[in-house]
Amino acid sequence: MAGKLRILPLGGLGEIGKNMLVLEYEGRIVVVDTGLRFPAPDQLGIDLVLPDFSYLRDRADDIDAIFITHGHEDHIGALPYVLRELGTSPPIFGGPLTMAMARSKIDEHKIKDMTIRYVRPGDKVSAGPFSVEPVKLAHSIPDSFAYALTCDLGTILVTGDYKFDQTPVDGIPADVARLAELGRKGVLLLCGDSTNADRPGWSLSESLVGPELEQTFARCSGRIVVTSFASNIHRVQQVVDAAEKLGRKVALVGRSMRKNVNIGRQLGHIHVPEGMLVEPREIEDFPDHKLVIVSTGSQGEPLSALRRMAHGNHPHVKLREGDTVVFSATPVPGNERAVNDTIDRLYHIGADVITPRDAPIHASGHGYAEELKLMLNLTDPRYVMPVHGDYKRIKLHGQLAEAVGIDPESIFSADNGIPLEIDENGASLGEPEQAGMIFVDGVDIGDIEDVALRDRRMLSADGIFIVVATVSEQNGRSVAEPELIFRGVPAVEEQDQFMVDLRGAVIGSLARSAKEDIREIDLIQSHLHDDVAAFVYKKLRRRPMILPVVVEV
Ligand SMILES: [Zn+2]
Ligand SMILES: [Zn+2]
Repeated sequence: MAGKLRILPLGGLGEIGKNMLVLEYEGRIVVVDTGLRFPAPDQLGIDLVLPDFSYLRDRADDIDAIFITHGHEDHIGALPYVLRELGTSPPIFGGPLTMAMARSKIDEHKIKDMTIRYVRPGDKVSAGPFSVEPVKLAHSIPDSFAYALTCDLGTILVTGDYKFDQTPVDGIPADVARLAELGRKGVLLLCGDSTNADRPGWSLSESLVGPELEQTFARCSGRIVVTSFASNIHRVQQVVDAAEKLGRKVALVGRSMRKNVNIGRQLGHIHVPEGMLVEPREIEDFPDHKLVIVSTGSQGEPLSALRRMAHGNHPHVKLREGDTVVFSATPVPGNERAVNDTIDRLYHIGADVITPRDAPIHASGHGYAEELKLMLNLTDPRYVMPVHGDYKRIKLHGQLAEAVGIDPESIFSADNGIPLEIDENGASLGEPEQAGMIFVDGVDIGDIEDVALRDRRMLSADGIFIVVATVSEQNGRSVAEPELIFRGVPAVEEQDQFMVDLRGAVIGSLARSAKEDIREIDLIQSHLHDDVAAFVYKKLRRRPMILPVVVEV
């Protein structure tokens, strides 16, 4: 008599990011992926978002292993935090590149006593009640695996991120035969990537990007800057190949780009011909038409090399007219604004910009609808739980499963914290467990309630002004001298001329509101806030917190 299996997603459902799946059988736990997410623009003062893994903290002694599908941040990024908080150190399994990336993260966090185990397709390792086998899939980073986890009750296939690329750059396509074999033997549950469930057809093969890059480069007469994900080692390979064909040399710019290419070269995933690389400090002395710069920053990340170039403050690259910036990536949902801002600044400097809208110079690492159907048909699962997607994509993935003939009753659209429970009698969604987000501010982990993190950051840097104004109920005019209280604002003293001027600014703001016949207190306060903030910034070049309080008499 087999026991009860629980599949508990702690992240990655109803969102793109922070993937984490907990598999539990007979009281023992195996975790697949420990990912993070980058903060939304309104989460000011937050550096990273992690899944709330309190559940694992409470059950730390029951965890037998952690398996990582591949080296992307949304699958591996939370690993150091999880290890630090657990207080135990279960062995961590993954492909060689994935584990090299895990190792470098763990070292940065100075965590000792870690057991890292390399696994390769075809291996079988036992982890508590599970026998676990990696299956090779194609994605936008080498060493991407699905895991087939088998317990007494059956086999659970967690796909990780994948596409069915028939001509991958490394020449090793997804192991379709093994997936079909698993399907024939019987897959109990498929937890599959939903990222591109909304895109019909098939994704573009990665190896079609190379010739497009070459054609694009051929049309450029000046310097070329290509930006892509630093972990997309096959893309970097194709940039290097295209540059070589056109007689250009390559400079790698940005810490993670240099780090990942180094790791990739050591593991044989990328081949750079002898004498091909130019050091960043030699860039400005190199002939423009002989150079391709490969840079981080395709997502408009604040401290990235490309963003610094766009703002004219990169130490080695000063962009100018005649340069072309090629975006060999599309923005991840949520990053659109930062990317657009970067692109616009590049135009302002005089550079030309080419994006995947202009030419097919990017291929997604996630399979489209027909590929998801292929996975469903190959593995022929009894139950399906779509993962790795917002609610819309999870729903669409469920519809694809229905389309290939899976019983709608066997398709479970779960959510973070909602476990799927399976035993010999069937499957159903169980009682919710604690799940959600936790924030990382520097190195500290905060609670969901910690909106205070942002306030703390503002206060600690620039202090606070409290403005108390009294206005007439009849006409909204200021009827008493505004009170100004401040704390922690650098370089201000009570008797300063600045304070006199600031009072003037407050009275001016109130008068303007009165003149425009604005009577709602909220609106007056909001104008007062903006005017005072602008005045303070102009005079002090600082952004203290401004708290306006308007009282009607
Ligand atoms: Zn990925
Ligand atoms: Zn992912």
